[in-house]
Amino acid sequence: MLLIALGLASCLSPAHAAFINGQNYVPLVDWARANGLKCFWLKRGDEIVAANRATRLVFDKDSRMVEVNGINVALSFPVAADRGTPLIAQLDLNTAVRPLLSPPKAADAKRITTICLDPGHGGKDTGNHTFWRSEKTYTLALALELRDQLKKVGFNVILTRSKDAYVDLPDRPALANRRGADLFVSLHFNATQTGKNEVEGPETYCITPVGASSTNARGEGSGYGPTAANRFEQRSLLFAYQVEKSLVQNLRVPDRGVRRARFAVLRDAAMPAILIEGGYMTHPAESKRISSVTGRRQMSLAIVKGILAYQRLVSPPPPPVVTKPPVKNPPVTKPAATGTGTNKISTKNQTR
Ligand SMILES: [Zn+2]
Repeated sequence: MLLIALGLASCLSPAHAAFINGQNYVPLVDWARANGLKCFWLKRGDEIVAANRATRLVFDKDSRMVEVNGINVALSFPVAADRGTPLIAQLDLNTAVRPLLSPPKAADAKRITTICLDPGHGGKDTGNHTFWRSEKTYTLALALELRDQLKKVGFNVILTRSKDAYVDLPDRPALANRRGADLFVSLHFNATQTGKNEVEGPETYCITPVGASSTNARGEGSGYGPTAANRFEQRSLLFAYQVEKSLVQNLRVPDRGVRRARFAVLRDAAMPAILIEGGYMTHPAESKRISSVTGRRQMSLAIVKGILAYQRLVSPPPPPVVTKPPVKNPPVTKPAATGTGTNKISTKNQTR
């Protein structure tokens, strides 16, 4: 209790904004208070919590990872501390924290109808290669399973490739743009040379904010300037968060977090776009899930649930059902035995 009290006292001590690493940093406690959150050190000088009854954020000093309601999200800049007072980059509050706590309600939001799936690699580009199999084989198998499941819940699905063929990276988001897709999902699997028995779990990427460096230096585009995808970066982050959360919770796997990168397939997408690294082909248990039909079905189900959760947060409500006034003196007709069923089917078909 004493430690917590000391922590509270320290957290609440007056501090000023600072300029660190070329970024404006603000006291975390000021931001937390303005947003109805209490801020305290969980582990003195190490872990900082900002929480209320609905939200719990856990920051680590000198770390770029923040836990947002149980899911890891990469910040662009590490959390700092000045004389015991935690500081956070204003850019991270704007581009990583706020979009998740107050999901953007875009006035131009339209219903999600078409989803573009991008099975990573293909043809001469094998991707990661382990246990006699290539990443390109698994990404296509996952995409085909995911396509079937998304169709079952009513989405239109387009694929950047439906066979083992090479497709240039820029052509993948270009197809999604041309076909007016509402979401873009690139599918990949990870591999590691070290710690093969330890490193496992999904990562979900979305575009890096303007002026920040990516979580993963690999795949970084040129410069730190804006890309087409930055117009949708807030919704892409929310989308990535919902999919990562669903994968972690439904597959019960370690959470490697929502991360940021200017991958070629993400930066030109003119719609919310994510890249899923669905697990490690080098991990013994995870490679079994990736290479099995059942495992990929579970993974697809989790991704579908994530997409539906995102849809509930951003999509406008369905149009109100217009009920026709009752017809006076309806003509008397003899109902056919299968009449009701036939009507139901024809109504359903009209709405597709
Ligand atoms: Zn890949």
